[in-house]
Amino acid sequence: MPPSVVVVGAGFAGLTAAVELASRNYQVTVVDRNPYPGGRSGRHDRRGFRIDTGPTVFTMPELFRDIFRRAGADPDDYVEFHRLEPGYQAIFADASSIDGGGRLVTYSDPEQMYDEIETKVSRTDADAYLRFRRYLQELFTIEFPNFIDGELDGVVALLNNPRALLGLVRLGGFLRLPKIMSHFFGDDRLRRLFSFQSLYAGLSPIRALGIFAIIAYMDVVLGVVQPVGGMRAAADALAALASDRGVRFLYRTEVEAMVMRERRVTRVVTDSGSLSCDAVITSADPGELARMLGRSFARVGGMHWRMSPSCFLSLRGVRGELPESLIHHNIFFGVEWSGAFRDLVDNQRMMADPSMLVSIPTRTDPELAPPGSHIVYALEPTPSLQGRLDWDRLGAGFVARFDRRLERIGVTRDLATLVRHDLDPRDWARMGMDGGTPFSIAHTFFQSGPFRPSLGDRTVRNLVRTGSGTQPGVGLPLVTVSGRLAAARVREGLG
Ligand SMILES: Cc1cc2nc3c(=O)[nH]c(=O)nc-3n(C[C@H](O)[C@H](O)[C@H](O)COP(=O)(O)OP(=O)(O)OC[C@H]3O[C@@H](n4cnc5c(N)ncnc54)[C@H](O)[C@@H]3O)c2cc1C
Repeated sequence: MPPSVVVVGAGFAGLTAAVELASRNYQVTVVDRNPYPGGRSGRHDRRGFRIDTGPTVFTMPELFRDIFRRAGADPDDYVEFHRLEPGYQAIFADASSIDGGGRLVTYSDPEQMYDEIETKVSRTDADAYLRFRRYLQELFTIEFPNFIDGELDGVVALLNNPRALLGLVRLGGFLRLPKIMSHFFGDDRLRRLFSFQSLYAGLSPIRALGIFAIIAYMDVVLGVVQPVGGMRAAADALAALASDRGVRFLYRTEVEAMVMRERRVTRVVTDSGSLSCDAVITSADPGELARMLGRSFARVGGMHWRMSPSCFLSLRGVRGELPESLIHHNIFFGVEWSGAFRDLVDNQRMMADPSMLVSIPTRTDPELAPPGSHIVYALEPTPSLQGRLDWDRLGAGFVARFDRRLERIGVTRDLATLVRHDLDPRDWARMGMDGGTPFSIAHTFFQSGPFRPSLGDRTVRNLVRTGSGTQPGVGLPLVTVSGRLAAARVREGLG
C-alpha cells in the first residue's frame, strides 16, 4: 500500500504539497472546510460577477508553472496568464513633482521603465533605476536560493552558507530600506514606489531591512501576471491537476482534532468522520493548529507572535464606465508616509492618511463581469485584531470614510453598484485567520527564516506545517515554495 497523507487545507500551499506527493504515488486526501479550492484566494460569485476575494497581485508565475512540470504536466493545459504591462500605476497625493498628474507606472521591461522615469522624473533617476535593477537582481540571486527556497532548521542553518550571508551583508541587506532607497534615488516618490512592498510582509517600509527589497524585484522587475478567469482560476487549475494525479478532495469538511499514538498522528478527526494516515500536512494558521493540538500559540518563553497588519476590503460589481485613467492595479499613496506606517505597523492604529490599492481586474479580463460592468477591488491596510481596535464601534464610520475616499478618486461616481461585499478583520478572524489578518505572522527579523515556525514539529514526528504561517512566509510565491518543501519533508520521513 502506498503511504497515505492527509493534507489540511486546499489553499495554494496544501494543493502544491498534494500534487507533489500524489504525482509520486502517495495516497493523498485534501480536507477543507470551504466548498472550493483556493483557501484565502476565494471568489464571490453573484449576479454574473466573479470577484476574487483574496490575492490580486500574482508574481513569479514560473514557480507556479513549475508545480505542473514537476508533476509531468503542461501548465498551459490548465491555466493561461496575461502579463500586466504596466504592472502598477502609482498615484501620489502630492502631485507636485511627477508629471503634474502625480502618476507613475511600473513596467517590467527595463527600457519602458527607463523612459517612464526619464520622462516623469529625471534622467539621473532613470539611470539610477537601471543600477537599482541590477542590485535587486544580485540580491535575489543570493537570497532566494539560499534563504527562501529551502528549510532553515535552526539559527545555525543561517551559517551553513557563510558566503551567501556575507553576500547579503555586502549588498546592505541588513541596512534599513530607506537607506538603500536614498542611495539610489533622489526622488521621494521613487523611494516610495520601490519600498512600499515590504508591507506585504507585514513590515513598515521605514523600518524593514534591505533584504525585503526582493519583494520589489518580484513584482516590479519580474512583473505581475493575471490568470485568465481570475486568481481563483489558478487555484482551480492546481486542484484539477491534483485530481488528475488521484488526490481525493473532501470539501465542506472541518478538521477538529488529531489522534496521536507514540508521538505520531494516526487519525485526523473531522466533523464527518475520521481518516487514518501515515502523515499529515497542515496549512491551518498556526494559532488554529495549536488549538487543534491543545497547545498554546505563544512562542517559547510565552512571547506572542506579532501579526502583520490586516486590511479592509471592499469588493464591488458596478455598471457604467470607470475613469479611463484607472488601470488594472492602482495604488493611491497618501501624503503622509513615515507617520502613516508608524500608526499602522508600530502603534497598530488606523492610518490617518491611508494608502489604498484599487484593482480593476475587468480591465484585463472583461469576462469576469456582465457586459458594460466592472469589478472594483479596493483594499486599505488596517491594524490586525491584535491592535485592539473595536471594529463593532468603528465599523460604520470607517466604511463611510472609506466610501468618500473612493468617491474622491472617481471610482463610484455615476456608477450603479450591483454587488457589494465588504470584509474587515473580524471577517478574516471568522474564517480562521490568526489575529484577524490574512497576512499571518509579520516578517520581522526574529519572526523570519529560522525564527519563523518551522515545517517540522518537534513533538509530533509525522506532522508537517505549510503555508503562510511557516517558512518561508506569506504570499503566493512563498506558500508555493512551502508546499513543495512540506512534501519533501514527508517523503524524507516516510520514504
Ligand atoms: C485580501 C487579500 C489580499 C492578498 N493579496 C495578495 C497578493 O496580492 N499577492 C500574494 O501573493 N498574496 C496575497 N495575499 C496572501 C495570500 O493569499 C496568502 O499568503 C496565500 O493564499 C496563503 O495560502 P495558504 O495555502 O498558506 O493558506 P490558505 O489559502 O488560507 O489555505 C488554508 C486552507 O486551510 C483550510 N483550513 C484551515 N483550518 C482548517 C480546518 N480546521 N479544517 C478544514 N480546513 C481548514 C482553510 O479553509 C483554507 O482553505 C492576500 C490575501 C488576502 C486575503
